[in-house]
Amino acid sequence: MALQLYNTLTRSIVPFEPMFPDNRDAAGRQVVGMYCCGPTVYDYGHIGNFRTFVFADLVRRYLEFRGYAVKHVMNITDVEDKIIRKVRETGSPLLEFTAKYTGIFLEDLSTLSCLPPTDLPRATQFIGEIVALIEKLVARGIAYKTSDGSVYFSIEKYRGCGCNYGQLVNLNFDAMRVGERVANDEYDKESVADFALWKARVPEDGDVFWPSPWGEGRPGWHIECSAMSMKVLGPSFDLHLGGEDLAFPHHEDEIAQSEGAGVQSPGRPFVKHWMHGAHLLVEGKKMSKSLGNFFTVRDLIAKGYTGREIRFLLLSAAYRETFNFTLAGLDGARTALARLDECLGKLTELAAGAQATAPADGLVGRFTEAMDDDLNVSSAWAAVFDWVREQNRLLAAGQMTTVQAAIELAAWNRINTVFGIPGAATSEVPADITALAESRVAAKKAKDFARADAIRAELKSLGWLVEDTAKGPKLKRV
Ligand code: AMP
Ligand code: ZN
Repeated sequence: MALQLYNTLTRSIVPFEPMFPDNRDAAGRQVVGMYCCGPTVYDYGHIGNFRTFVFADLVRRYLEFRGYAVKHVMNITDVEDKIIRKVRETGSPLLEFTAKYTGIFLEDLSTLSCLPPTDLPRATQFIGEIVALIEKLVARGIAYKTSDGSVYFSIEKYRGCGCNYGQLVNLNFDAMRVGERVANDEYDKESVADFALWKARVPEDGDVFWPSPWGEGRPGWHIECSAMSMKVLGPSFDLHLGGEDLAFPHHEDEIAQSEGAGVQSPGRPFVKHWMHGAHLLVEGKKMSKSLGNFFTVRDLIAKGYTGREIRFLLLSAAYRETFNFTLAGLDGARTALARLDECLGKLTELAAGAQATAPADGLVGRFTEAMDDDLNVSSAWAAVFDWVREQNRLLAAGQMTTVQAAIELAAWNRINTVFGIPGAATSEVPADITALAESRVAAKKAKDFARADAIRAELKSLGWLVEDTAKGPKLKRV
């Protein structure tokens, strides 16, 4: 089976086929252009946001596993309504303020083992492209200037050209009042209206403004993504991703602006394939800043969880299913990973030095079948844990050779290029725990077994188990 993905545009699962099959990299791999709307850098991201970014990382990694070369673009929204408000409240200069939160975002992305996107365009560096795109829309009569020096996108004019507004969501145009305008970057379906491309400078913007043919001002959020994605990936590209809340108005407006500018070759869309990740919920409600029901990556690290546990949890449910976040879920992730680590540890020990000719087919085959089915990670993880059970059985029965162990390990390593779960690094054992374990070794050497047992009990009370192996003591979480 070939890779099948759900496309929000057609509301169906379709085979994934790149739009430009002859576009290949130096190694002969087909190149896929993929754009994921990145963070608005005005605060710490919460793990709901990161569910979407980990999902984008999964898509990119699986396409690479399938042999494609992925140009993975993630923009940084560094000028937008919420940012301007925060800059005003904190009194810090725009670039200083957004650089701080961009840095924090990239650190969190790395804590969750996401591969760095190949391009990270920042909106403020694309003002020239944004203005040029708005000029095209104005020249085509689809955008118009208002008396205050703002520029709006005319939905009526766009539709009048035979274009379709409402490709990603169904809209009720009967309720729409022609020419009504919405200035906010975020609005809901009920307020379908002409939206702002360029917002004229107002006193509250402080010194956040740029010159333009319509006067000083700043871009709207939607036009930023159209300009950046088309500049980096070209006027037509393969994949566009984001959380489900972005389908309307953000992505619908991106289509309207990009296709309205008429820059695509005849018959080509702006984007072939749209993918939307479902929300991370907390007690049935979307995790969000406004509801205050959120955890940042750093909150969870401070509670003693690790980036790999958070990543595992975020990757445990299929991307189109909403998923309820709980701390108990993270404890479950810890237990599941411990089971996997234990099995991998035993395989590594047995395989020591043996070379795998090729990864074992069984695991890679079941994994590929699951992932080809619209990235069905639940079924892919079920394959992994069935495999763990089988390896444990063979190991316990002494029915595994060193070469077999190496082949099975190679299979895990192959599929883990997609899951991206980092190894159980010994560095995750805190220094004070390592020091205690070392003092236990010293006590044993001195034949002070009572002290050694007391240290073992102390380690256990701190959440660590010591296992004495042929290669020395090993520490595991209880
Ligand atoms: P923002 O920084 O608010 O622009 O959001 C960045 C990304 O996070 C967007 O793709 C949103 O759709 C996504 N997002 C926001 N809240 C959630 C959530 N609770 N679950 C999953 N994704 C979310
Ligand atoms: Zn966007």
